[in-house]
Amino acid sequence: MKSAVYTKAGQVGLATIERPQIIEADDAIIRIVRTCVCGSDLWSYRNPEIEEGHSNSGHEAIGIVEEVGEAVTTVKPGDFVIAPFTHGCGQCDACRAGYDGTCDRHIGNNWSGGVQAEYIRFHFANWALVKIPGQPSDYSEGMLKSLLTLADVMPTGYHAARVANVQKGDKVVVIGDGAVGQCAVIAAKMRGASQIILMSRHEDRQQMALESGATAVVAERGEEGIAKVREILGGGADAALECVGTEAAVDQALGVLHNGGRLGFVGVPHYNNRALGSTFAQNISVAGGSASVTTYDKQFLLKAVLDGNINPGRVFTSSYKLEDIDQAYKDMDERKTIKAMIVLD
Ligand SMILES: [Zn+2]
Ligand SMILES: [Zn+2]
Repeated sequence: MKSAVYTKAGQVGLATIERPQIIEADDAIIRIVRTCVCGSDLWSYRNPEIEEGHSNSGHEAIGIVEEVGEAVTTVKPGDFVIAPFTHGCGQCDACRAGYDGTCDRHIGNNWSGGVQAEYIRFHFANWALVKIPGQPSDYSEGMLKSLLTLADVMPTGYHAARVANVQKGDKVVVIGDGAVGQCAVIAAKMRGASQIILMSRHEDRQQMALESGATAVVAERGEEGIAKVREILGGGADAALECVGTEAAVDQALGVLHNGGRLGFVGVPHYNNRALGSTFAQNISVAGGSASVTTYDKQFLLKAVLDGNINPGRVFTSSYKLEDIDQAYKDMDERKTIKAMIVLD
């Protein structure tokens, strides 16, 4: 089967590799129907030390179950499913508390990889996979896009709002105008925020967020951006949703909050120097991590998409064949597209 591999920094190619097999009883083999490039994949793509032939870090897909291990009872071959990037077991304390993105049974955690391919082996399939009614041919391309967001970016945006405890009437600021930031705007609206400000310098992304429920956009960064937010809100924000993963984004998020505010962070951290205690004088609550994809999808996000109440699929502003995946990464890297979808036959 074909799978995307990194050939060198800034280049992705296709390799022919062996089709994955069932290894554990709780595995499923899934034929990929749609996958995509994530903002987080760009860290591998840009890495000058990446070794040639390194497996892709793709981790978001919808597809058809081909084969299941003997312990899998919830899905069967032929079922259409969301393949979350997370693999909650559904039984441990973390999963039962609604934190299946960091399942207690995972050793060092256990996210998907290599999903930009024709087939994948999906572990902890019995609980983690999310069944979609019907078959791909029952859905419009726009609906397939929204279903694909349920593998990562929509639940991740939602997670930022959940861990920041966004409540009805809250004033919320979203840092990051990529796919996750856009989904965080949708999530803040779902949870009843009264004001939602997106920090963004790109007109198309500002427009998309305004259509999804943002009430204002702020293009300025740093101190200037913080001042602008405070001017619009008439004070600090109740919650800041950090969807980038850089220290500058965390600083921005902390800067817009009033004392006692809440920071939810879901940008994969590319810093390691933030000390617990740095927010002591502000009484800031800080929480974040890997999204509870299966929990949110099963409880309300799949229904919200199928009912047409949310349309997160709009973040996919371009589509490519697997053969053209190098272009998909390039366009993401150059910010020509918000999120690149890969269509498999
Ligand atoms: Zn992702
Ligand atoms: Zn678990």
